Amino acid sequence: MRSISIFGATGSVGESTFDLISRAGGPQTFRTVALTGGRNVARLAEMARALRAEVAVCADESCLPALRDALAGSGVEVAAGDAAIADAADRPADWVMSAIVGAAGLVPGLRALRHGRTLALANKESLVTAGPLLMATAAAHGARILPVDSEHSAIFQALAGEDIAAVERIILTASGGALRDWPMEALANATVKEALAHPNWAMGQRITIDSASMFNKALEVIETREYFDVRPDQIEVIIHPESLIHSLVGFQDGAIMAHMGAPDMRHSIGYALNWPERAALPVARLDLAQIATLSFRAPDLNRYPALRLCRDVMSMRGLAGAVFNASKEIALDQFLAGQIGFMDMAGVVETTLARLMPEMCLETDVMTLEDILRADHLARIRAGEAATALAARR
Ligand code: NDP
Repeated sequence: MRSISIFGATGSVGESTFDLISRAGGPQTFRTVALTGGRNVARLAEMARALRAEVAVCADESCLPALRDALAGSGVEVAAGDAAIADAADRPADWVMSAIVGAAGLVPGLRALRHGRTLALANKESLVTAGPLLMATAAAHGARILPVDSEHSAIFQALAGEDIAAVERIILTASGGALRDWPMEALANATVKEALAHPNWAMGQRITIDSASMFNKALEVIETREYFDVRPDQIEVIIHPESLIHSLVGFQDGAIMAHMGAPDMRHSIGYALNWPERAALPVARLDLAQIATLSFRAPDLNRYPALRLCRDVMSMRGLAGAVFNASKEIALDQFLAGQIGFMDMAGVVETTLARLMPEMCLETDVMTLEDILRADHLARIRAGEAATALAARR
């Protein structure tokens, strides 16, 4: 029986993973080792009972008594806190879903890789923050990272059986997010509610706002660079409002392989769960005659400054990814809290990068976890200062 763990089980990707595991037979088919959540202990306990997990861990230590109550008599162990989540990654599991949101996903993912596990990686922030370290750890311990982000799963599938040396370009598709068709001058006043109205995908709150600002796509450009080891100039972004092509790979003979499917994360999660095989999945099938047309347009970098910033980050390399991600997380917190405007988020990130880089550039890409955590910490402080300065001007 295959053993699995889900980090970030109570989130949007976690729920989709739970759905697929449950449909495939739940505890009859899989042995569930660890399930983790942040604060939603009621849902975490429900999932742990349904899958008969070995251990359930919540990140927020103040939620531990509630988790203990909810799992009383179930035989499921309980624990709380960041260290307990990281320890849960040491428990043997064949397949580990990394679906915590933000840089908090880095340490548990790294710990799972050190044990040679197969890591289904939804947590793009860890690749952006520590790509070289994650990839080197996976290589050193014979672990495998399977992409779960729909774009990277699409690229991975388009590359099956291909030689990466024959790849000319990788084209990431983007819906353009909730504010895609707004006039440029209105963007500064966009509210959280307006930025959350994603046209095609149902996702967690943070990634939905990041889709509207294209910080999500900027993270994905860096993720592509780290995961597939292609040059930055080989990575393109195109707006594709229908979100039916999840990404494309162009080869040196001029052929382009596109991956299509319904916008449903259960496809890429299911692909990673069943890889290297394909299994039947409960996702909608496309009716091409009904779809009839697909449209594309180039992104405007004035509207989406994040797409320009990610190019700077790739040319700086070293710890720039950690600074970029951490300052983006702070900028997003501040926007969600109503402290700064929608377009100010890019300002916070740009200011933080300018203050901390190139002082933090490494001579090589050999970075330690301590280097990364220090860069992440400093970037959060500097980004907080930049956000406060911007908020004072509003
Ligand atoms: P959600 O916000 O829906 O869920 C996040 C999960 O992480 C929840 O289980 C949450 O717990 C937990 N969590 C939050 N903060 C912490 C913390 N500090 N420590 C430990 N756990 C924490 O996010 P998504 O599912 O949308 O996204 C998860 C990851 O997958 C992100 O990296 C995202 O970029 C990526 N991704 C998501 C896609 C999507 O369709 N949603 C698509 C592609 C990638 P709780 O809710 O209990 O507080």
